[in-house]
Amino acid sequence: MKLICIGRNYTEHIKELANEKPTDPVVFLKPDTSILLKKQPFFIPDFSNDVHHEVEILIKINRVGKHIDKKFAHKYYDEVGLGIDFTARDLQSQLKSKGLPWEKAKAFDGAAVIGKWLSKSEFENVDNIGFSLHKNETIVQDGNTSLMLWKIDELIEYVSKYFTLKIGDIIFTGTPAGVGKVVANDKLKGFIENRELFSITVK
Ligand code: ZN
Repeated sequence: MKLICIGRNYTEHIKELANEKPTDPVVFLKPDTSILLKKQPFFIPDFSNDVHHEVEILIKINRVGKHIDKKFAHKYYDEVGLGIDFTARDLQSQLKSKGLPWEKAKAFDGAAVIGKWLSKSEFENVDNIGFSLHKNETIVQDGNTSLMLWKIDELIEYVSKYFTLKIGDIIFTGTPAGVGKVVANDKLKGFIENRELFSITVK
């Protein structure tokens, strides 16, 4: 399975990193080895001094598809989750400035947190889901899918032009504003509305 990640999908986050607003979604992949194993702490890798949390809504693909029209995209997932796209921001900045791919900064072991899944049927409208990340009991990121530049169904249409989607593939839909550095002993908890979907410790 693969993790397909979207960058720059929320205007306020684009501003905080002083990035340009893209004309198409920014897409990158993480390998399955980047998934943080259940109940394991997140270890800050020794090649970075500035690992950031990026909380994101996740979509789990439930059937095989390619060139999916956005009007049929809702048939390709029935679970919604929450995760973290951990990013070695210092390394990513170096790679970006040289025009190089981001994988070393985003696809390392443990860089993908995947929380519990919720049934899509629990939501009246997937384009209006509130979610948040709490760091040591303080809310540091607070988003809503209504603020996405490309909505979930549009992302499925877009990425399926390039990659065949397979059962179990996961789409990370981009982070809202409020990304920041993690340090050892931080405790990160992710919520969709009032439901806690993950809790991890940083080491
Ligand atoms: Zn991200």
